[in-house]
Amino acid sequence: MRILVTGGAGYIGSNLVDRLMAEGHEVYVIDNLSTGKISNIQHHLDSERFHFVNDNILNMTTMERLVQQVDMIYHLAAVVGVKYVVEDPLRGITVNVRGTETVLELAFKYWRKVLIASSSEIYGKSTNVPLSEDDDRILGSTSIGRWSYSDSKAIDEYFAFAYNKKGLPVVVVRYFNSYGPRLDPKGYGSVIAKFIGQALRGEPLTVLDDGQQTRCFTYIDDTVRGTILAATVPEAEGQVFNIGSNRETSILELAHLILKITGVSGEIQHIPYAQVYGTEFEETRRRVPDVRRAQEVLGFEADTPLEQGLQRTVEWFRAHRGAKEAL
Ligand code: UDP
Repeated sequence: MRILVTGGAGYIGSNLVDRLMAEGHEVYVIDNLSTGKISNIQHHLDSERFHFVNDNILNMTTMERLVQQVDMIYHLAAVVGVKYVVEDPLRGITVNVRGTETVLELAFKYWRKVLIASSSEIYGKSTNVPLSEDDDRILGSTSIGRWSYSDSKAIDEYFAFAYNKKGLPVVVVRYFNSYGPRLDPKGYGSVIAKFIGQALRGEPLTVLDDGQQTRCFTYIDDTVRGTILAATVPEAEGQVFNIGSNRETSILELAHLILKITGVSGEIQHIPYAQVYGTEFEETRRRVPDVRRAQEVLGFEADTPLEQGLQRTVEWFRAHRGAKEAL
C-alpha cells in the first residue's frame, strides 16, 4: 500500500515507519521536524519506497498533494505532551485541532482511510481504574493549561467520529505512556527518558511527590503493533481503542528499576510538583487502561515485560545520543 504517516519523524511515527517499510509498503512522511528528528528516518532516505516532506501539516497545498497520492493515512503529527502544550497553548491547540481537521477534510475529499492518534490524557483526572474507552472524561478548569491538550485531542476524536458518521473509514487509538528507542533524550514528556538520562549522567532521579502515582508503561513495539492492528482490522473501523499495557507501575518503583538496569548507584530525590510544573498543575495519580476492547476486536495485548523494554531503551540511549545530548 501507499501510506502517509504525518509526524513520521517523531518518536512513535518513526518507529511505525520502520515497521511499515519492513512490511514492504510505500511510505510518505510529512514532518516539520519541530520535535521529530531527521536522524529517526535517515536510514530510509535512500529507499525508492520512502518519501519525506519537511513541512507543516497546516499547509493545505502540501497535504492535498500527499493525500491524493496514498491509499491510507496514519495521523500522528501533533504537539505532543502536556509540557509543550502548557508552554505554548496557542500552538498546541492550533496544530492539534486544525491539523486533524485538515487531514480529515482531505481524507473525506479523496476517500482515504484514516487512523487518528489520540491519548490517554483524554480521560483527564478520572479516578476510574481501569479506564475504559466509553468512560466519562473528568477535566479541571480552563485556567489549568494542562487540560487543553486533553480537549484538543477530544475535538480530534469528535471530528473523526463525525466523518465516520458520514461513512469515512476512521479509527482512533489512545496511547498510554509509550516508551522505547528514540524517546527525546531531554526527557520531555516522558519520565522514563528523563530518569534514564539522569541515571546515565550520574544525577539524582527526580521523583515527584511521594512517587506513589502510577502509569502503565507501554513498549514502543507494542504501541506500533496495536496501531497497525487498529488500522487494518476491518471490525475496528469507527471505534476508539486504548493501546497500552495494563501493568501498573509506581514512579518510585520505576526509578529503582532504572537504577538497577543502568547499574548506577544513583540517588532518588523527591521533589514537589510545583518545582517542575509550576503551581497551576493537576496530576493524574493513576492511569490504567481497560484493555478488553483491544483484546477482543484487535486480538492485541501489550506483552513486552517492563524490565525487557527498559533494558532495550537503556541500550539505545547508551549507543546513541542519550547521555551526551541530554546534557
Ligand atoms: N514524573 C516524576 N519525575 C519527573 C517527571 C515526571 O516523578 O521528573 C512523574 C509524573 O508526576 C507522572 C509520571 O512521572 O506521574 C509520568 O509523567 P510523564 O511526563 O512521563 O507522563 P504523563 O504525566 O503525561 O503520564
